Amino acid sequence: MDKNVLWDLSYGMYVVGSKDDRKVGCIVNTAVQITSDPMTILVSVNHDNYTNKIISKTNKFSLSILGEKTDISLIGTFGYKSSKDIDKYENFETFEIDEMPVLKDSCGVIICEVIDKLETSTHTAFLGKVIDMKKLNNDKPMTYKYYHEVLKGKSPEKAPTFIKEEIINEDKNDNAEKLEEKQTKTVWKCKVCGYEVEMDELPDDFVCPICKKDKSFFEKIEK
Ligand code: FE
Repeated sequence: MDKNVLWDLSYGMYVVGSKDDRKVGCIVNTAVQITSDPMTILVSVNHDNYTNKIISKTNKFSLSILGEKTDISLIGTFGYKSSKDIDKYENFETFEIDEMPVLKDSCGVIICEVIDKLETSTHTAFLGKVIDMKKLNNDKPMTYKYYHEVLKGKSPEKAPTFIKEEIINEDKNDNAEKLEEKQTKTVWKCKVCGYEVEMDELPDDFVCPICKKDKSFFEKIEK
């Protein structure tokens, strides 16, 4: 079974947010409209995400649709940190619709009331009835493919699309051996989020633009 086929499914990049006594939120890549009348949205959120607990409590969520020009540090903050420990919204311009947090740096937002949910062994699929929507800018919505291929990000382990990297690399290596000419270049890879940068040496003050880890979290790989 070739698990790389899963990469051909399309996903976006979103922040799903909610609020009880404070604002919480996390990155999800699995969000779809499943019916138009009534308008219903499905989002999948890992059980380990603190945001999951708060959505289950409030039965309400916001879905901010990230764009290709969205500040990449927003993905680092919402994708690689926990709302249990910090206020992720602190450094980003935020407002509220129907008491739900909305990130201004997004293409648009959909506010939903949870009408049902399905538990899987790792994720909750929340079904939300759309109660409000707002367009925020004309940026191109970021697909997961763009995040992966252009921004060189990878799935955090909590994402529904996470596949252990060894599986993907096994298949890649098969293909690589077939290539007769190999060009090597020096690439530094963040061990936390997978961000890659092509550079001979990293400056001492280098900080990962996605997850904000320092130079010591980077490993050198030849490509
Ligand atoms: Fe990183």
